[in-house]
Amino acid sequence: MSEPDTITTLTTKTPPWWLRIPLTLQIAIALVLAISLGIALGAGNPSPENATFITNLAIPAELVLKALRALATPLILVAVLHTFMTTNIPGTAGRRLAVLLLTNTTVAIVIGLLVANVLRPGTWGNLAVSPADAEVATQSLDPWSLLKDAIPDAILKPLVDNNVIQLIAIALSFGIVLRALKSEQIAQSKTAFQPIEDVIGILFEAVIRILNWVIALVPLAVFGIVAKTVAEKGFAPFQSLAAFIVAVLVALALQACYYLTRVKLGSWVNPLRFLAGGSDAFLTAFSTSSSTVTMPITFEILQTKIGLRESSASLGALVGANFNNDGTALYEAMSALYISQVLGQHLNIGQQLIVVLTSIFASVGAAGIPNAGLVTMTLVFTSVGLPTQYIALLVTVDWFLDRCRTAINVMGDMTVSALLDGKKPRTLDEA
Ligand code: ASP
Repeated sequence: MSEPDTITTLTTKTPPWWLRIPLTLQIAIALVLAISLGIALGAGNPSPENATFITNLAIPAELVLKALRALATPLILVAVLHTFMTTNIPGTAGRRLAVLLLTNTTVAIVIGLLVANVLRPGTWGNLAVSPADAEVATQSLDPWSLLKDAIPDAILKPLVDNNVIQLIAIALSFGIVLRALKSEQIAQSKTAFQPIEDVIGILFEAVIRILNWVIALVPLAVFGIVAKTVAEKGFAPFQSLAAFIVAVLVALALQACYYLTRVKLGSWVNPLRFLAGGSDAFLTAFSTSSSTVTMPITFEILQTKIGLRESSASLGALVGANFNNDGTALYEAMSALYISQVLGQHLNIGQQLIVVLTSIFASVGAAGIPNAGLVTMTLVFTSVGLPTQYIALLVTVDWFLDRCRTAINVMGDMTVSALLDGKKPRTLDEA
């Protein structure tokens, strides 16, 4: 199986000097400047003559969020089609892979929701939300209607409505069919599929490049939203964001324990060897915030340091990595619950079920690139009627949490590979 094109090849051009300052440093500088401006503007006691200026500080964040919402559906569509066109998923192993991916992702979301329900990070500190927003979140939703709506009325409708479940239904159908057509044509030595594959590849690159422009504006968005928040409400809101960070880290750590237990019980690999052997991949994931960029390293260490068969390593690390984003799923579900708590509206079981379902779909469609989870999160929020402008708050902490969930995404791919490898180590003949 050939390794799929990774976005590494798509993003290696030298950017201008200001973009070469690491994004984390840009955000850190933005935070310092924003806090200073917020204090200068009153830190919770703003003077009325600055009111318009303070309100307008939110404009960059609003624009970034709009762009993320607009990019979410095309990104998911082309990412799924691209994966199907460029990777080879064998029948039986493919089904096993699908079951493992679904189980792990569901466990991740359940862990995320449990931790968020127990720690209730959204209730620590007061974000003083507007009453209109609190009302939006009270919409009661029926999980059955979600099922009834799984098939769109028209092919392009999910792209316009930002409906993630319908979108994945369309993307998977076309992905499976295009892949089958490609295989048939290869068997007949025909190449008519090639132009379609090229177009999908180019579109994928184009969406990622536009996304990179938007990401380049994140420091400005963080600056504006933090300055506005500090000016209007002081530092109380950040208490709640700190609680959210702690809650996400606890949930991700629990997910890591779940992986190690599964590796111990379901494969021949010793969990300590798994951790030590995987350290290069975890560190790369943490430092790049991209499981796709980490993919070649994951593939390599699974064989050389952990000793898995090539077939298991490629299925888990190359194919699985494109669909398997447990850390992202966990994060999206927790974010929805967190914001609902911030709004004082606690999602009932039916609504949380919708969050579980849409987070599964949103994480399948999230490309393994920095901040992709933030993009698809807009769809999870829309599905339960949560106002997406609160994602602006999460933008301020996403640069850090993205790194952590990417490491868990990679650990999830490695776990799937180990489980596919089974209970018997590879023999010398297989090496
Ligand atoms: N950065 C993550 C990854 O590459 C995706 C996300 O934003 O959640 O796996």
